[in-house]
Parts: sequence; structure tokens; C-alpha cells
Amino acid sequence: MVDREERLQDFIDRCRQEGLKITPQRVAVYEILLNSYNHPTVEEIYDEVKKRYPFVSLATVYRTVETLEQMGLAKKVCYWGSSARYDANIDEHHHLICVKCGAIRDIYMEEDLSIPSELEGFRTEGYSVNIYGLCPECREKAQPTS
Ligand SMILES: [Zn+2]
Ligand SMILES: [Zn+2]
Repeated sequence: MVDREERLQDFIDRCRQEGLKITPQRVAVYEILLNSYNHPTVEEIYDEVKKRYPFVSLATVYRTVETLEQMGLAKKVCYWGSSARYDANIDEHHHLICVKCGAIRDIYMEEDLSIPSELEGFRTEGYSVNIYGLCPECREKAQPTS
């Protein structure tokens, strides 16, 4: 992953280019997303931003996350049964998802699925694999204590 400072600077530069207002709150949204590994929801990001900027609005956080997504700096992790979660890791990677606590961990796999460039009339652009299971913490809890 590229250096965080570099990514933040990149975001600020691109906001400038596109004429978007750069506020410390907006920068904080991206910074928090870059520093979290568990793919937070917008609400979780909001809770963190609020600790630094108590008057930030949820709408601002939503808009900033949307902007980041449009700029290709963040990705939405689609996953059933939960609100959309976000990822600042835009490298090609896959996810291990705990069906119990909802933890999402990034994994990199050697296997190449060799997806054809065209499928059922779609021009394919990439793929991401979600692997479901129990995380180590939940496995431990599931074990009978004797
Ligand atoms: Zn778990
Ligand atoms: Zn991820």
C-alpha cells in the first residue's frame, strides 16, 4: 500500500483540481478510512470523525465517502446482511468475512481465476472473492469451555 501521507495529499490535490472544498473534516474522513482495517460503515467513520470534530454532520461524512468512491480512492465492500462497508485499500484483493461478528479481513491470493474479458455480454473489469467463515476470535468463543 502506498504511503498514507501520499494518499492524503493525492486526495487534497484532486479535490483542488475538481474545485471541491477541502475541509479538515473531509480530510479526517479519508484519514480514518486509511487507518482502519476492518472496513467500517459510514456510521462508524462518522463516530470517529466526531471525536475530533464534534460538529461534523453525518451527511458530510456520507458525501465525502461518496466522493472518495467516485475518485477511486475507496471501494464499497458489498456484503449481504449489513450496511455498506468501505475500504481504502484499492489494491486488488479479496475478503475473508466472519459470518458471526462481521469482521472483514483483506487477503491476497495467488490463484488467478482468469476471468474472460467478456462474459454474458459484460465487459469485465475485475473481480473480488468473498470467503465466509468464522474468525479466530469467534472460533475460540464457539469452543466449549471445560
Ligand atoms: Zn468473528
Ligand atoms: Zn478490503
